[in-house]
Amino acid sequence: MNKTEQAIMASDLEYQKRLANNNARLLILADNAVARVRELHQQDGDYCAVCARVGGGYSGGYRTVWPCDTIVALDGEQE
Ligand SMILES: [Zn+2]
Repeated sequence: MNKTEQAIMASDLEYQKRLANNNARLLILADNAVARVRELHQQDGDYCAVCARVGGGYSGGYRTVWPCDTIVALDGEQE
């Protein structure tokens, strides 16, 4: 392997390291975002603590039965 090839390989290795570090950071950001959403969407008896659906008629809305669509979507992501 000549010096040019060595330089290219070293440069590629540095690039791969930076890519891995960036991926790790992105994973942490995503995990933190999911944790914040889960903290918000807590079970409160039979319902989600924060979710409500718009209802028709006189009700104007009703609480969402647990697990809400948000939690179902998050849990589905892990399968
Ligand atoms: Zn919810």
